[in-house]
Amino acid sequence: MSKYRCLCGYVLHLSTGNEDYDLMLVRNSNVESTAASIEKSAIDSNVFFEKIDENSRNVYWCPECKRLYVSTPAFTSNIFEVYKREIRLHVLST
Ligand SMILES: [Zn+2]
Repeated sequence: MSKYRCLCGYVLHLSTGNEDYDLMLVRNSNVESTAASIEKSAIDSNVFFEKIDENSRNVYWCPECKRLYVSTPAFTSNIFEVYKREIRLHVLST
């Protein structure tokens, strides 16, 4: 069982890959192209995950301090960019 200690001290237990704080950052284009592949032909779950994993990032979200740890440069990387929560509302202009 792997663990990851957040900078705030909270310990994230990463045993199943299905914990609520174990996330993925996936490009919309990856989701769209994978959906198109599914519509064209039946792909098995291995191909599905390979396509989703392409150019995606592994993200850990600390439930205590809300920091995000984003693997870089790739999903399998053991190096993480750390993002600290900034509380303010901002409307994206279109
Ligand atoms: Zn934390």
